[in-house]
Amino acid sequence: MQIEDYIKAGKIVAEVRENVRKKNWVGVTLEEICEEVEGEILKRGAKRAFPVNTSVNEVAAHYTAEPNDEKIVSDTDLVKIDLGAQVNGYIADTAVTVCYDSQYDNLVQAAEDALKNAVSMIKIGVKSSDVGRTIEKTVKQLGFKPIMNLSGHSLAQYTIHAGKSIPNIWSIGSFSFKGDQAYACEPFVTTDEGSGVVQEGKIKNIFALGSRKRTKNEEADRLQEYIWTNFNMLPFALRWLLKDWEEKQARELLEILMKKKVVHAYPILIERNGQRVAQAEHTFIPTENGATVTTILG
Ligand code: MN
Ligand code: MN
Repeated sequence: MQIEDYIKAGKIVAEVRENVRKKNWVGVTLEEICEEVEGEILKRGAKRAFPVNTSVNEVAAHYTAEPNDEKIVSDTDLVKIDLGAQVNGYIADTAVTVCYDSQYDNLVQAAEDALKNAVSMIKIGVKSSDVGRTIEKTVKQLGFKPIMNLSGHSLAQYTIHAGKSIPNIWSIGSFSFKGDQAYACEPFVTTDEGSGVVQEGKIKNIFALGSRKRTKNEEADRLQEYIWTNFNMLPFALRWLLKDWEEKQARELLEILMKKKVVHAYPILIERNGQRVAQAEHTFIPTENGATVTTILG
């Protein structure tokens, strides 16, 4: 584990996230948000760990802008902006919810409070089920519901989901936090009218390499090689291919790679009752007395 790289990536996303939080995004397109936030990560000397997610209102996660995405943030929207940087494959994963409808300010605060309470109890040996219990309790006491089928995760080099899940509710199947491992904790919270469950939507615009094998299509193999060289096994967006391919051809080649199961896509995840969802997220490494939160400034 390269702690310096985790710290460097964390400092970069923390700075960018705080700028994202302060900025007024009303009237800005989702594509402009993604391009600007990803640009800020690159400018600071890290690589992007995954496409910036801009998931609006009842979409909980996994939406990134399409090329020329014209969807504009309105003055009543709530947008989860989830961003990640990597240094030598060591990832910092963090998220902030920006909200322009004061009716949902408390929902956003509930996600932040749940994250704060969860992170403050972390140290080596703490059980993941106890963290889930804390998140659930915090959220319910504030009158909201945690999303029970979304969770935090362990991280590894070039791997966003490294096998362990940090639940957002009390749940069986616990593990104990270790000091030689990075994790991301990410409470997702919906209203009392929400189901507390997300389901997959039709849109899929985040992709990742799943395996590497020849496809008998030379151009598809060239794209596969490009993806491996530039993004390794980490997620990527169609937007990221358009310096080297025309959009139409990139889409066709991606289809070929998906049919051959070389590339897989992540569907967007939507609150089942159509209720709004807020999110907060930090990355941390447990220590004997607490945790090094890589995505907190200072
Ligand atoms: Mn994230
Ligand atoms: Mn995450």
